[in-house]
Amino acid sequence: MASITGLTRDGQVWTPKFATSINMDSCIGCGRCFKACSKGVLVLDEVEIGDLEKSFMKVAYPGRCIGCGACGRTCPKNCFTFEEIEL
Ligand code: SF4
Ligand code: SF4
Repeated sequence: MASITGLTRDGQVWTPKFATSINMDSCIGCGRCFKACSKGVLVLDEVEIGDLEKSFMKVAYPGRCIGCGACGRTCPKNCFTFEEIEL
C-alpha cells in the first residue's frame, strides 16, 4: 500500500506524518499544540477524575490534518503519535 505523499515547492516528494492521537495521561492541557495548529484539528476537552477536573487535548478532527508536525514540536510532554496514512 502506498502512503499519502506531498510535494515541496521545488517538486520533491515528502511523506507527511499525521497526528493520530494524544496521550491523555501525560497531557497537561497547556494548549501549546492548539496554538501551533493552523488547521483546527485539536480541541481541548475535560474529564472528571474524582473531585478534580483534568483538561486534555484531543485530535478531534483528524481529517483536517496536513501532517506538518508543528503540534508535536511544541508539546513539552511528548504526547503525540504521528503516523503515515495509507491511501
Ligand atoms: S500535524 Fe499540523 S495540521 Fe496536524 S494537528 Fe499537528 S499542527 Fe495541526
Ligand atoms: S502541548 Fe502537549 S501537553 Fe500541552 S495541551 Fe498539547 S498535547 Fe497536551
